[in-house]
Amino acid sequence: MIPFSPPRIDQKVIDEVTAALQSGWITTGPRTKLFEKKITEYCQCKTTVAVNSWTMGMQVFLAWWGIGEGDEVILPAYTYCASANVIIHAGAKPVMVDINPEDFNISVAAIRNAITPKTKAIIAVDLAGFPCDYDLINALVNEPAIQQQFKASNDLQARLNRILVISDAAHSFGAKLNGKQTGSLADITTFSFHAVKNLTTAEGGAVCFNLPDSFDHDAIYTAFCTMILHGQNKDALAKTQKGNWRYDVEEPGYKCNMTDLQAAIGLVELERYQENLDRRKQIFNLYDNAFSAYSWALTPLHTTETKVTSFHLYQLRIAGITEAQRDAIMQVIFDQDVSVNVHFLPLPTLTAYKKRGYKMDDYPETWNKYHNEISLPVYFNLSDEQVQTVIEAVVKGVSTVLKK
Ligand SMILES: *Cc1c(COP(=O)(O)O)cnc(C)c1O
Repeated sequence: MIPFSPPRIDQKVIDEVTAALQSGWITTGPRTKLFEKKITEYCQCKTTVAVNSWTMGMQVFLAWWGIGEGDEVILPAYTYCASANVIIHAGAKPVMVDINPEDFNISVAAIRNAITPKTKAIIAVDLAGFPCDYDLINALVNEPAIQQQFKASNDLQARLNRILVISDAAHSFGAKLNGKQTGSLADITTFSFHAVKNLTTAEGGAVCFNLPDSFDHDAIYTAFCTMILHGQNKDALAKTQKGNWRYDVEEPGYKCNMTDLQAAIGLVELERYQENLDRRKQIFNLYDNAFSAYSWALTPLHTTETKVTSFHLYQLRIAGITEAQRDAIMQVIFDQDVSVNVHFLPLPTLTAYKKRGYKMDDYPETWNKYHNEISLPVYFNLSDEQVQTVIEAVVKGVSTVLKK
């Protein structure tokens, strides 16, 4: 069976995790701090806090920014449920909008139509690793007519005094827009280091802060590290210093810090990330070339003059088929021992959001992209022969189902 997205666990990772285990320090400590510093350097953002998942990083961030009851947050209907769930748990209303015709990302025109005086933030999702139009989104929130209707409800929001731009970069570590890395493109960027993501720490995530210079990013780092550790003003490492046992809790915080065991994996992953990206790009090119021979193949947009993807997901679409035919094609592919996937089931098709009144009919472009989409395996250890096997399985799947 060709798996869909296995982690790259080799002796190097095992040695680094073993070294962390043997160091005597296994929770948040020197390796986590180094990992944060390296992410800040790589992404060219202002500061980074490592956390135990994208989801908890965003959850704590929304609480810290004071987003809650009566607020609206705009996001695409085409994303993973985490992007919406954090908004619901914050007590705010997810305002779902449609995506672009030419890619899988949130439409800036749709964002514009959805903005109200209650809009506090926009969560743009770099689907499959392809960056959103952050230059346009950042310009939009700064337009005088839009900026003037913004109502701040606390000091942090008043200092920014406009809608906050958040990047859901769960897929897009290492992607670029106009030569700038994800992590530096929005006010706040959150990465996921879940097992299936481009860069993994088994479970994990990072919040990159890139607010205007009027914010003190050293103070933000300290405040956010406190928020992810129960609001306790000293972490476990600081408390081990001689006589330094007393602490205070200034506000009730959360508990979602990254451990040094996770950071050990992340440091190895980050060190060799370029070779990961290079191999992923090769695989994308092999798929592009192979499928260009078939008129039914709609290959994904992943590179333009201004944008470079992180090559996270290869979202192939099959022209002229129904959702049921897509599912049937996937079954034929699975029967040839090749794992494929669908990214994603649009949120309005899922019970939790249907119950809250979201309707698939309101997002035609999302449905258009979803109903004939199949994500193919892409990862460092996928060999050229395996890529060939995947291609043959897809071609067979399509011809089998379309013959019927
Ligand atoms: C994986 C994913 C998340 C959630 O990441 P976790 O680290 O598992 O919390 C959020 N958004 C998108 C688009 C994702 O694919």
